[in-house]
Amino acid sequence: MLTSVDFSGRELGMIKLMADFFAEKPELTAKIESYTTAHYALMTTYSENFGIPAEDAWKVFEELERKMNEAEYLHVEAPYPLKKWYSLSKEEINMLRVLTDYFSEKPKMSPESAFAATRAESIIEAYKWFFGTTEGNGDYARESYRNLTEKIQTALSIKLETLAPVVATPNPYEAVLKLLQIAGDKLKLDPGMHEMLKRPMRTIIVNVPVTMDDGSIRVFTGYRVQYNDVLGPTKGGIRYHPDLTLDEVIALSAWMTLKTAVTGLPLGGGKGGIRCNSKEMSTGELERLTRGYTRALARFIGPRLDVPAPDVYTDAQTMAWIMDEYSQMVGYNAFGVVTGKPVDIGGSLGRNEATSRGVMYTIIEAAKHLGTELQGATVAVQGFGNVGFHAARLLNELGCKIVAVSDSKGAIFNAEGLNPTEVLEHKNKTGSVTGYKCCKALSNEELLELKCDILVPSALENQITKANASKIKAKIVAEGANGPTTPDADETLFKNGVFVIPDILANSGGVIVSYFEQVQNQMNYYWTEQEVRSKLENTIVNAFNDVLEVAQRYKVNMRIAAYMNAVKRIADAMSFRNCKTFVSVVERRNVVAK
Ligand code: NAD
Repeated sequence: MLTSVDFSGRELGMIKLMADFFAEKPELTAKIESYTTAHYALMTTYSENFGIPAEDAWKVFEELERKMNEAEYLHVEAPYPLKKWYSLSKEEINMLRVLTDYFSEKPKMSPESAFAATRAESIIEAYKWFFGTTEGNGDYARESYRNLTEKIQTALSIKLETLAPVVATPNPYEAVLKLLQIAGDKLKLDPGMHEMLKRPMRTIIVNVPVTMDDGSIRVFTGYRVQYNDVLGPTKGGIRYHPDLTLDEVIALSAWMTLKTAVTGLPLGGGKGGIRCNSKEMSTGELERLTRGYTRALARFIGPRLDVPAPDVYTDAQTMAWIMDEYSQMVGYNAFGVVTGKPVDIGGSLGRNEATSRGVMYTIIEAAKHLGTELQGATVAVQGFGNVGFHAARLLNELGCKIVAVSDSKGAIFNAEGLNPTEVLEHKNKTGSVTGYKCCKALSNEELLELKCDILVPSALENQITKANASKIKAKIVAEGANGPTTPDADETLFKNGVFVIPDILANSGGVIVSYFEQVQNQMNYYWTEQEVRSKLENTIVNAFNDVLEVAQRYKVNMRIAAYMNAVKRIADAMSFRNCKTFVSVVERRNVVAK
């Protein structure tokens, strides 16, 4: 399938540097007069210009080279006032390939003698040499070269379209499969059931055309994966992210299946998302995208089938658009089609902070079990979005000291403790937690390795890996995010005595209160915030203690124990229902209707 992939800021910087190298008056690379290899010259200049280690520069270049090899089409975004996307011609793409190749460790597209009088002539020579005389006639090459450098040097961003499968690294689906295997083996799970649990029940891929503010049309790829519905309607968030992959959505939907099961909810698991950079889109563009995605999925979602919710870079407003579009299609107010809605249109009190409140309840239980005093305990929170901010605020209210927080731009540290609400005000004003008064700046990596009592990763997957697991000094890691720890890192943490409250348990507060929202929508009767909180506490504390009991009985870590509880509940349900096929409730209903 043709997938759209954005170049990262670092990759864009590298391409600009390469173009600058061949420009008539180089600015960034003017210092390079002589060099042993073009590759080495680029790496050192890049690392000096952008202040990043040379080994990172190598990685950026490798990724860039791979993307260039796999690109079918390339598009560049012209700067203001145009701010419009242009497609590169075949010749310009080829020229960019020659340019990239020129800087590779072993260039294949340039002859050893491709050193002409000027740098620009060298690259034109290389182009002619590789593409032959038909395409590579000098004037033609010169024109492609001029057009390309002009577009690149002013580009706001670059994206490509590729037919190559886009896979997240490390692949979180692989992590799910590994853990399902371990839990299945411990439970002596029937092999047939294991086979069913390894795969999603249904995967939906949609391409949504959106008219952008400048009048152009862009097509965005969206996914919805309904992993397993044996326990009830599938449930799970919708994520907007430029690097989203299908495998990531499958993994997230599997985690949702396990999460609803481990907490004893009458729900299955699903997840969805769209590959898009929501930060660069206007509210109108986001609304049109969300409504288009809803129309494309309308046959497959619904209060009794599959109920989406917010996730990374989506919020109550996104849910309101989905609910409204779906309601218009079915002809009545279908409040229950999504959860995480604004309270005025069927949202539940307490949903906004539910995930973080759940994280806090599980930390309280873990502290009781470990005999850790929470008053004055030091906390580092990675990610300062919905989950991270509320987790920091609630733990602070409990008496913990929040010593560090971070977002995608970096981390801040203050040994005396931070006031999360004031940090949020700063973030709302400036766009980031970085630069907040009286704080030391840290990288996200340094935040994870801080000496503290409690670490709450609340950003994205694969943050604690084999590479940094042995450096984690926290006593408790409460996973606010989904999949922040890779399985090999888990083993190291367990060996080192770090008590990990796994994602499917720690951050299940969100889906628990989402379930309460569904119940309230169905009754059309709404609970007080206090009722929501006490029901949440009751549900998550019971789930925590059930998992702890299994962890102690089988001498396994909390994650494996949580998987074992969840898998057992799903397998029991499949066995009661005698599930031998993937035909879900929707398909059976359609069969009956015919
Ligand atoms: P959000 O979009 O509100 O916040 C994400 C935060 O992470 C932002 O502050 C962003 O700047 C930061 N971030 C992004 N990349 C980062 C990086 N490399 N290093 C540090 N920070 C980075 O999203 P959210 O709703 O808070 O979700 C966060 C995580 O929690 C996700 O893994 C999500 O799947 C999980 N989760 C969310 C909910 C929920 O109810 N919102 C429920 C369960 C699990």
